[in-house]
Amino acid sequence: MKQETSNPPEDPRPNFDSWDREHLWHPYTSTLDPLPTYKVDSAEGCVIRLADGTELIDGMASWWCVIHGYNNPAINAAAERQLRKTAHVMFGGLTHQPAVDLGRLLLEMAPPSMHNIFYADSGSVAVEVAMKMAVQAAVARSGNPGKTNFVTIRSGYHGDTWNAMSVCDPVTGMHSIFGSALPVRFFVPQPRSRFDGEWNPADIAPLRQTLEEHHQEIAALILEPIVQGAGGMWFYHTEYLREARRLCNEFGVYLIFDEIASGFWRTGRRFAWEWAGVEPDIMCIGKGLTAGYLTMSAVLTTREVADTISRGEAGVMMHGPTFMANPLACAIAVESIRLLNSQDMEARIAHLNAMIAELLAPAAALPGVADVRSLGAIGVIEMKKPVDVGEFQKECVRRGVWVRPFGRNVYVMPPYVISDSQLRHLLQQTIEIVKTL
Ligand code: PMP
Repeated sequence: MKQETSNPPEDPRPNFDSWDREHLWHPYTSTLDPLPTYKVDSAEGCVIRLADGTELIDGMASWWCVIHGYNNPAINAAAERQLRKTAHVMFGGLTHQPAVDLGRLLLEMAPPSMHNIFYADSGSVAVEVAMKMAVQAAVARSGNPGKTNFVTIRSGYHGDTWNAMSVCDPVTGMHSIFGSALPVRFFVPQPRSRFDGEWNPADIAPLRQTLEEHHQEIAALILEPIVQGAGGMWFYHTEYLREARRLCNEFGVYLIFDEIASGFWRTGRRFAWEWAGVEPDIMCIGKGLTAGYLTMSAVLTTREVADTISRGEAGVMMHGPTFMANPLACAIAVESIRLLNSQDMEARIAHLNAMIAELLAPAAALPGVADVRSLGAIGVIEMKKPVDVGEFQKECVRRGVWVRPFGRNVYVMPPYVISDSQLRHLLQQTIEIVKTL
């Protein structure tokens, strides 16, 4: 029997919707005591407009992805052109120009050893696919059916699906809730050598030890290169990646880079691996890929991995989602990459970084602040104590900015099209709120 949905009393405040509060789950939300959610009417460029007309300067790029700003005319036009042809066709037995065009553009900007592309639905699914690829290839290459586990670094974040969750940080991730239902992975400490500091060789010792002892069980090392995102907004030293690559080669373990958050110029390079000059065997990309228009991701790999899978027991890569290579998403991604390629992005991100570093610097002297850091178009104020996100966002809305802290980190990664005056307002107001914590 169909359940009648209850009709909660109208919320008189224009930015709040009682039906939403009663029936819609938002990310990581309690149904008993949900955090406030503000109702958006529209968004354009770097401005999110709420239902009552309040305008917010966006500091989050909707979780890293809206790189060219909202309602971008060039991307809108590309989407409309593709809509007139078809929004979707299955990728089994069919192909289309947007998938081919996107693949060519991706291989031009990817590490040179990347050769094969698997289109997937979201960041988490890309991580699942990458892990399946690594297992299929590792077992086929070694002939050892037990070479199926993973090693990763602590404070990582790779998504919310089952295997992605299993390689998220075991403390700040969801391990305590899902417990024994999760596969048990090998964890080594987070590298503590800062991106902009001295390299401490002791950082790599635990990885060497784990690989020495367990390489026969380990298919791959998976990590976010240079920038650990949601797990701690931490930027670590390039030498860690160089050493990790050497160890993976020495012990016959694949190396997976999760560049879902760090890709498409966010760190000041097209992809974060470029800082270290270290290539992975498998690489996940997402978020900025479709500039925040549609959910889509991709997994790139070497010819060696792809062909090893094809020579293995199954003879094929065992994955094939319904919306694989969705033509509308591909057409949007093509336009987004063309926009990136038509600009001097290195100079653009360097400019944003100079402003972020200068404007956030005064926060370092505040009593509640533990550390301030920036890389590319990312700025982080790490607090000494966890931040009350609901209260923080109430202040944000009052001051006309949009920042969503996580744990102890107040951070910004705005759309690249943010103007100097918008960025100044965003950072100054953020610091004003931090002063009150
Ligand atoms: N990996 C990283 C590094 C991420 O930052 C995220 C998303 N925050 C994911 C994977 C998961 O992506 P999605 O939310 O699209 O599933």
